[in-house]
Amino acid sequence: MLGHSDKVAIAVSGGKDSLALLYVLKKFFEEHNRTNLIAITIDEGIAGYREESLQIVRDFCSHIKVEYKISSYSQIFGTNMDDATENRPSDKMTSCSMCGTFRRRLMDIMAEEAGATVVATAHNLDDHLQTFLINLLSGDVERIGWMYPEPVQYGPNGIKKVKPFVEIYEHEIAFYALLRDIPFQSDQCPYMKESIRSDIREFLNNLESRHAGVKYNAFNTVTKISKALKESTMGSLTNSNECQICRRKSTQPICSVCGTLKVLINPQ
Ligand SMILES: [Zn+2]
Repeated sequence: MLGHSDKVAIAVSGGKDSLALLYVLKKFFEEHNRTNLIAITIDEGIAGYREESLQIVRDFCSHIKVEYKISSYSQIFGTNMDDATENRPSDKMTSCSMCGTFRRRLMDIMAEEAGATVVATAHNLDDHLQTFLINLLSGDVERIGWMYPEPVQYGPNGIKKVKPFVEIYEHEIAFYALLRDIPFQSDQCPYMKESIRSDIREFLNNLESRHAGVKYNAFNTVTKISKALKESTMGSLTNSNECQICRRKSTQPICSVCGTLKVLINPQ
């Protein structure tokens, strides 16, 4: 997953998962006399929510002596989540889908600027299953193929994306964070209720409480399905073109980031 010379950028939100990942990787790097680790944090511009977690990230990174960078949607895209939610033409454009689109792009930009060769995100087993069911329910078959959890290289600089916690249950990470006295933000994003994700999370947790191990079984199934789908769509991904506006790699003439920004600037 990580080579000795890799520079690793960890996407840190200020929640328990990403701070636990930062803590674990920092310890691992220290044991191997490595310093090529950086935390990257995104300010989505959500008033009353993001300020607290930014402070937690600043304090924790200073405490464990890890370099960190913070960048915002406003700086890069000229808009933030509060404005985007206000200006969207319809509620069908959910805050979570706009935010996910912007977050993935900004993470790429920040990792490139930091000279990282690997981006590590703290997605856990529960996140992974929820994403699978969201893709399943929305008919997004191609994205199920993208979910196969192996390090993939992408973009002009060949950055690898890894998810070291993808086989770990969310509650085990929460328990670890509490045991290690890792401070984290427990408030949930105010836009979270717009997403079907919280309903799916509750559904899966109810199932797990009555049938222990069902989430892990489902994870293994999802891995097999996503692997088969990825292999069958590999050709179409390598033949992708570039976005006419930002010139980044895109399967469509205009990428999802530029498409979303266009709609937000000229809502009809
Ligand atoms: Zn674009």
